[in-house]
Amino acid sequence: MQHSTQRSRRSFLQSAPLVAAGGLVACGQAEQQAAPAVQSQQRFKWKMVTTWPKDFPALGTGANNLAHSIEALSGGRLHVKVYGAGELVPASGVFDAVSGGTAEMGHGAAYYWKGKHEATQFFSAVPFGLNAAEINGWLRYGGGQSLWDELYADFNLRAFPVGNTGVQMGGWFNREINTLADFSGLVMRMPGLGGEVMRRLEVTVKALPGGEIFQALKTGAIDATEWVGPYNDLAFGLHQAAQYYYWPGWHEPGTALECMVNKQALGALPADLQAVVEYACQAANDDMLSEFTARNSQALKTLVDEHGVQLRRFPDELLAQIGKVSAEVVAEIAGQDPFSSRVYDSFDAFRKNSIAYTHISEQAYTQARALTFG
Ligand code: CA
Repeated sequence: MQHSTQRSRRSFLQSAPLVAAGGLVACGQAEQQAAPAVQSQQRFKWKMVTTWPKDFPALGTGANNLAHSIEALSGGRLHVKVYGAGELVPASGVFDAVSGGTAEMGHGAAYYWKGKHEATQFFSAVPFGLNAAEINGWLRYGGGQSLWDELYADFNLRAFPVGNTGVQMGGWFNREINTLADFSGLVMRMPGLGGEVMRRLEVTVKALPGGEIFQALKTGAIDATEWVGPYNDLAFGLHQAAQYYYWPGWHEPGTALECMVNKQALGALPADLQAVVEYACQAANDDMLSEFTARNSQALKTLVDEHGVQLRRFPDELLAQIGKVSAEVVAEIAGQDPFSSRVYDSFDAFRKNSIAYTHISEQAYTQARALTFG
């Protein structure tokens, strides 16, 4: 792992004008002043490959929104065409496509790339890890982004957080889950670190792509599944294949989505268009979480009131047992290599601080609100 903590967002913005000025550095003052007018004529066409089915609710449409923002903010100088999973490359090929330059941009989630490096998972979702507000805080003001930049630099990529699902749901089950013994022998779809935790609890884990989940649950090929939250789960019709809908989603407490950009493609843009990409990503990051916040609560009401879904909470004792195994699984990543250890230490320190403050802020407030409003 090469050291490139200096390749932060700040350093790329500082170096960007040199790229934009290009061969004009040696020219006279008048020509330098004319440069912006010349640059404004340049037009760029990019491809954005995604891990989502085309126009998939909130995730695929969020990628579409990002492309629209870039187009609008650049006055049409940077056009981004969005491809759904399988249109240009399969979902699993997005990382390599952007890294290798087949596409300039990609939208997905960092934990899909754990085969590239286990530490990618910290930039997406960790069981009992950071929620949406916390992961944004860690990335932007807690040292997380520079670690992410360092990791992705080795793959010729820049990464930006673009979207967050918020706290996910615990999953759909065809039987009630009260103790660890109820997990034993289940066949469940759960990817990532959560899946590894379940494997250690004697669950047979399958990592099916989203498009195959409904059929597998309906036919009994799997007994249980997690997907995202009420909005996406309702769209897949998962309530037609399982009866019990468990909460909370301990395995994905605020899953961050990502936009990855090919470093050469980004560096080839004039400075103002590089800034457009960065700030459009920030806007899309906020927008997608807002959409999930609004639509999840709406969809939950539909699932319960119109479809009779049985909501169930995992018992405290069971959550504590899952939490213990989760801590072991996550800590093992830290032991794999020095870089993963640094990411883990940074993440874990942020979580510890956040727990102390959340206890007397968000957590205390929601408990206080519940006293009157339920
Ligand atoms: Ca999920």
